[in-house]
Amino acid sequence: MTDAPWLVPQAAYVHIPFCAHRCGYCDFAIVVGKDHLMVRYLDALEAELETLIQPRPVQTLFIGGGTPSHLPEAQLERLLRVLKRWFPLESDAEYSIEANPESLTADKIVLLAQHGVNRVSLGAQSFDPRSLAVLQRSHDPTTIATAVKCLSGSISQISIDLIFGVPGQTVAHWTDDLDRALNLGISHISTYGLTYEKGTSLWKQRRSGRLIPLTEDDELTLYQTAIERLTKASFTHYEISNFALEGRQSRHNQIYWANYAYYGIGLGAARYVGGVREVNTRDFDAYLAGRRSWQSEKLSPLDRARETMAVQLRRAEGIHRVFYRRQTGHDLDAVAPRLAALVDQGVLIDTSERVFLSANGKYVADAVIEKLL
Ligand code: SF4
Repeated sequence: MTDAPWLVPQAAYVHIPFCAHRCGYCDFAIVVGKDHLMVRYLDALEAELETLIQPRPVQTLFIGGGTPSHLPEAQLERLLRVLKRWFPLESDAEYSIEANPESLTADKIVLLAQHGVNRVSLGAQSFDPRSLAVLQRSHDPTTIATAVKCLSGSISQISIDLIFGVPGQTVAHWTDDLDRALNLGISHISTYGLTYEKGTSLWKQRRSGRLIPLTEDDELTLYQTAIERLTKASFTHYEISNFALEGRQSRHNQIYWANYAYYGIGLGAARYVGGVREVNTRDFDAYLAGRRSWQSEKLSPLDRARETMAVQLRRAEGIHRVFYRRQTGHDLDAVAPRLAALVDQGVLIDTSERVFLSANGKYVADAVIEKLL
């Protein structure tokens, strides 16, 4: 039990906060206009990695942001070299990095491949110039195709992020986005509904009435369109927001959805080690100065069991009763007394071996999970 993957991490997340500008919907831990501090950030990151004491072999490593591909080659090379030392990859590991289409260059892609990166998650968001403008993205649709073409020579797995529910977006626009993504021959697509996080530019525009959000019904139609379109193209809908060709699911994200342990390094990074969930400081200057001040939350076994239920239900496979008991020490039915009622309502399916969202349940997944909790 001591080496159980929900206690001992076999995955690591590393955060690179630099972005060329802040997109209209983004409230992540990022910095803009601080590129001159990249070297100091990598110094601070290395200092944090030293706290691991010894190298930690992992099965999945994910460099996210921010925009990791915004690092110039010299810094990117340093990052990849340092991570190789602290997070050596097990054989057959998944090594992912997030990238924006406009900041990838052929030389950076060669560097990534040389260091074993085998998966790139590309922040495309849309192929529609009008949606890209609303979202305040800085690339144009042709840049996405160019980036994918450049990547496909040396990176075996390419994923694309798309956003639906953009004000003014119609089913026709969205269908076109999905088709253009499919035409690129990639193996993984993530589709996220636009959210208006407090303080973001889009949130302010909505509050002042300058921007009219889509209705919930319209958003639901777009989500249904994605499911229909992508499953018809042989993509498996393996998690609420994620679709992949056979064998191309994100192994790193599946660790989050299993509620397994992972290391987290960098500004604002979360980690989950030994049943303790922690989030690093989002204060850039403090991080550079080595003041990491983790916000920590030690969950009770019951809270951990509830949380495990909530994240595992996001997966198409749902919750395996026997395995859930082994992982959490709790019976699913004791943790979720309303489970049977939700099965009766048709939003959950219970095969006795496992419980998962029905087709209708996927459309209201958040509400179902909330009721269970
Ligand atoms: S590129 Fe990504 S991380 Fe950077 S501002 Fe835009 S949405 Fe946020």
